[in-house]
Amino acid sequence: MSTIKYILPENEMPTSWYNIQADLPEPLPPYLHPLTKKPLGPDDLAPLFAMELIKQEVSQERYINIPDEVLKIYRQFRPSPLYRARLLEQMLDTPAHIYYKFEDVSPAGSHKPNSAIPQAYYNMKEGIKRLTTETGAGQWGSSLALACSYFDIELKIYMVRVSYEQKPYRRMMMEAWKGKCVPSPSLDTNAGRVALQADPNNPGSLGLAISEAVEDAMTREDTHYALGSVLNHVLMHQTIIGLECKKQVEMAGEYPDIVIACAGGGSNFGGIAMPFVHDNLKKGKNTRIVAVEPSSCPSLTKGVYAYDYGDVAGMAPIAKMYTLGSHFMPPPVHAGGLRYHGMSPIVSHLHKLGLIEARAVNQLATFEAGLTFARSEGFISAPETNHAIRVAIDEALKCRETGEKKVILFNHSGYGYFDMTAYDTYMSGKLTDYEYPSDKVQEAQAGLPQL
Ligand SMILES: *Cc1c(COP(=O)(O)O)cnc(C)c1O
Repeated sequence: MSTIKYILPENEMPTSWYNIQADLPEPLPPYLHPLTKKPLGPDDLAPLFAMELIKQEVSQERYINIPDEVLKIYRQFRPSPLYRARLLEQMLDTPAHIYYKFEDVSPAGSHKPNSAIPQAYYNMKEGIKRLTTETGAGQWGSSLALACSYFDIELKIYMVRVSYEQKPYRRMMMEAWKGKCVPSPSLDTNAGRVALQADPNNPGSLGLAISEAVEDAMTREDTHYALGSVLNHVLMHQTIIGLECKKQVEMAGEYPDIVIACAGGGSNFGGIAMPFVHDNLKKGKNTRIVAVEPSSCPSLTKGVYAYDYGDVAGMAPIAKMYTLGSHFMPPPVHAGGLRYHGMSPIVSHLHKLGLIEARAVNQLATFEAGLTFARSEGFISAPETNHAIRVAIDEALKCRETGEKKVILFNHSGYGYFDMTAYDTYMSGKLTDYEYPSDKVQEAQAGLPQL
């Protein structure tokens, strides 16, 4: 029988996360304080994050134990299946073996709960009663609402106003899990009031919503803030994906030649990729590791590697990363989770050191790939996930030309059932493409913090 799903038994789920900081050939550049521009210390972060998460952010330990309470919740949907994409292979007529890790099985429909759950847990352990966060299309907000409902924490979500109005279903999910969701800019914070005074019709942005959520957490004793991507501890929580994959490809008697994932802030990419980067660094493996971003918001392929602000208001830490500038307004592509001006410091560092590759793909090509996937494998994927599918298909088609039987592994970061309007726009021929203008990079450079 030719197996399709590689199912890891619950008792073989990894019990620690992998921290790549232990194995980096050069250490990560430190974060800087947004005002003093001096290296950030734990005390600077304590008003916002649980102490355990701050420790994880800078830890040099190779493996960090996953608490039992977190493992218990993970088991609601983990281990997630690894699929052999036999129907897609057949449709493409490729000798390549294509595998995808299926993160759609979490209740929120993506990989994001892998970090939301431990973040909510550590905050609850440290006596925090309330969290704040921002969300764009609602994938992170709904994942954190889910996590907070497991651990009985109150949650306030600042949701970018245009999405709040256009994507009501994610808001309803958040409310089903007891999250309180308001459109950002809101009247609840200073940052929001200032923005609304200047423009009562302000559509909002992720950078502005971050400023509101951070301000809310800073001004309340019982409240912390949670971020869904970018930070080191978030990427580390996501390594459960890659660690499971390693066991599952072994069950299949294979090892990947190429590992692919889409990259917005870099968390699902880091999560699947870092355990394989480990094998490249430590076990003499030679796997190609490819991050895929939209050509409209191409931080890794067109950005500058520099210290930059994480948000619009300049309240979040300054990080060394590939960036398009903190004031860059990404065009309204449907892959909302990939519209961030920067890239996680770890992914940026790996790219700078030549340990990973990056590819930018345009929106039309990603939806074409998404439909090829839906019409072979059956699953309808998130617009973000379609970026990874695009490159996996391209690599498989190259194998058809050369006759090589490469093993291709990609992360299926989530489902697309709340994104059917985007599919509809594509299918009716109305979807437009956005290319990042090459002269924009100078603007990004001009807006960097003076150090
Ligand atoms: C949020 C999201 C992404 C992008 O975020 P990363 O932190 O780069 O992983 C990708 N896919 C899905 C389904 C998402 O919800």
